[in-house]
Amino acid sequence: MFATMNKTKPIHFRRLLISTFVLIAAAAIVKIVSLYPEWIEKYYSTGIYIYISVFIRAITRWFPFSFGDVLYAVFAIFLVIKLVNIIKAIVRKTVTRQSFFLSILKIIRFFLWLYLVFNIFWGLNYNRLGIAYQLQIQPEKYSTQELKALTDSLVMKLNFARRSLGDSTYQYPSDKEIFAQTIVAYGNVEKRFPFLHYNQPCIKSSLYGKPGDYLGFEGYYNPFTAESQVNTTIPAFLIPYTTTHEVAHQLGYGDEDEANFVGYLTAKASTDMVFHYSVYFDLFNYANGELFFRDSVAARANYHALDTLVKRDEKIYRKFLIEYRNPVDHYITILYGDYLKANNQPRGMDTYDEVVAWLIAYQKKYGAL
Ligand SMILES: [Zn+2]
Repeated sequence: MFATMNKTKPIHFRRLLISTFVLIAAAAIVKIVSLYPEWIEKYYSTGIYIYISVFIRAITRWFPFSFGDVLYAVFAIFLVIKLVNIIKAIVRKTVTRQSFFLSILKIIRFFLWLYLVFNIFWGLNYNRLGIAYQLQIQPEKYSTQELKALTDSLVMKLNFARRSLGDSTYQYPSDKEIFAQTIVAYGNVEKRFPFLHYNQPCIKSSLYGKPGDYLGFEGYYNPFTAESQVNTTIPAFLIPYTTTHEVAHQLGYGDEDEANFVGYLTAKASTDMVFHYSVYFDLFNYANGELFFRDSVAARANYHALDTLVKRDEKIYRKFLIEYRNPVDHYITILYGDYLKANNQPRGMDTYDEVVAWLIAYQKKYGAL
């Protein structure tokens, strides 16, 4: 065994080095390409990306569970085993110079592959021109007056949506029904905005719902399996908008404010009022939260103007957030903020709130919410 190893290893090592340089070159090309948003928009996001994502979804959609969630678990176990082996090797002092460099090389290669696959499968969408370009609207800085006008409209929309759901005995649809209605809603919005065509739909309940509550996520997109995961343990009124948001990521909208905005366009195109309620609930919280910093009296007045049943849901929502608040959640939020900053969203976690600017710009151009 050792004899063959000595014979093959140097060649193997050289080959590994050469292929690592090929990987570095490929990663450099991806990085350079990402600097040209017009190119990304035309050839990637509305070009090859559509084929890549539809192809992957055509496979993963047939799994009745989130295949990506299982992959993450398998990968986590694999990492633990690797780590144990490294510790064992250090303790037993079996680490040689060669095995050390080989391990370093393998780690570098792993990250290069991760970078390439992540970007080619989805990540380049962070660099596209996006929905502003497609709708010809430009989110800008807005005045407090404009923000107040927006929250007034949102209060009206929110109250109207809740009232049309009926009284406190209203039963929320099942998660499956919400997912099915999301697909219908995308079919509706596509009539107006053909680029929102949703082929090979693939929406899954997250297998990590409860831990997700502690980590603070309501849904996530898996760029490797092209599946949308929704944390279905969150309060029911949050699920419809979360689902339309995650599907927006699937359609190639990377940035959180864009996914929020596309999710909004779709939720309001639904004929199911629960989608309207869900989207206006969230948007009201974003906008009113923003208003609170500028004019807390006006923000409080807005809150008081909410329907009793909306207020009840606001309390449920707050309780939910407080119940699962913990130190880990705090660090995850910071980490995710850093991730967003590294991916073309300099405002980090505040990117979500930027949907307010989008709404104002949209209202200006289309005259309605
Ligand atoms: Zn998102």
